[in-house]
Amino acid sequence: MNKGLEITRGKTKALYESPEQPDVAVMQSTDNITAGDGARRNTIEGKGRLAAQTTARVFRLLNLCGFPTHYLSGGEDDDDNEILVRRCQMIPLEVVVRGVAAGSLVRRKGLQRGTLLVPRVLEFFLKDDANHDPLIEPEEIVQRGIAHPSEVAAMSEIARMVFEVLAHAWRRRDVLLIDLKIEFGRLANGENKGALVIADVVDNDAWRIWPQGREDLMLDKQMYRNLQDVTPEALDRVRMAYEQVAELVGSFPQMRSGMVAMLAEDAGRVENLQEIARQIQVYGLASGRHVASSALTPGYVMQLVQQLDASFARLVYVTLGPPSLAAMVNGITVNPVIDAGVQSAEFVAQAVAKTLAIDDTVLFGRVMLMQANARSAVLQADAQLNVPPPPPAPGTALA
Ligand code: 5GP
Repeated sequence: MNKGLEITRGKTKALYESPEQPDVAVMQSTDNITAGDGARRNTIEGKGRLAAQTTARVFRLLNLCGFPTHYLSGGEDDDDNEILVRRCQMIPLEVVVRGVAAGSLVRRKGLQRGTLLVPRVLEFFLKDDANHDPLIEPEEIVQRGIAHPSEVAAMSEIARMVFEVLAHAWRRRDVLLIDLKIEFGRLANGENKGALVIADVVDNDAWRIWPQGREDLMLDKQMYRNLQDVTPEALDRVRMAYEQVAELVGSFPQMRSGMVAMLAEDAGRVENLQEIARQIQVYGLASGRHVASSALTPGYVMQLVQQLDASFARLVYVTLGPPSLAAMVNGITVNPVIDAGVQSAEFVAQAVAKTLAIDDTVLFGRVMLMQANARSAVLQADAQLNVPPPPPAPGTALA
């Protein structure tokens, strides 16, 4: 990639200006690996390429779900360890989410390593190498002017959702996500200037992952932290784990094809069917629409369902009609059937998306974000109702 002046350099990456694109930067991962705030340092040939690949694939997944991130493009083989990102002002915090007790939490709280954490534990650490990145409470983040209360709330909610999305992706590969660190920035330019985005990297240094839930099979940087002797053979084992992780993460951003077959009992329900189809499209899902009556054209219902079953691998049916239509379709197919009943179009679309999200992490993330947006709309509406009336203009006589 075409690079301009170096903007900054960290322990494992460097950031450069992008010539002629003031809003954009080039982030380059290096072959360095460090632990203990840089006390242990080594180089693993090819690690930079693997780190850029891993980060690019994770960020592509997050972008597809609809999370705000700084990632634009790059990071794959011919990009020379480099990815293109939107320029940000970084917030000097590490946001850690934990689903299973490990690492510093075990040391600080005396918990048994491997304990399942529900609800997830969320912690902020101040980025301050000299003081070993101390834990910092949300109140102190605000008091010290590091972030606004609304940003602390948004970072917490986004970090929790990112953890669940990545835990879902890993679980599908029989790997348990233990914990995760992400960082945020504020967009430096453009129409969303100041908006919070997930920034920095999310690579194999930033999480703990245990295949089959077994700590002894770990594939992440903890392998390197745990080394008694840093021998060339040991570093080679670490490199192989990083390679395996980059490869596994390769399919994270792939949405699986899914089809929604919608059957209405009669013409009077077509408008409702179209509205559900529009809501289904919000999740990026395709739908096929039909009118087929369990009472008047049962043979057609039978033929249609058999044809659809034979044509699509991941298929969900939505029926709009009397219980007899749902019962009939349900009796013919082995695929899931959702009876729209009296539910709203949004509800039905979400039920469809949830069904297909079981083995599709992009959809899983989209459902999570839709739910979060719906929650925040409720809270905003409530806050709006309780806004105190504006003070009277000066000079206005009080009744
Ligand atoms: P812990 O606080 O248990 O040491 O770390 C919690 C999680 O955050 C782990 O997944 C760990 O890899 C990650 N983490 C903590 N500090 C750093 C850091 O300085 N850099 C990176 N890349 N990850 C970190």
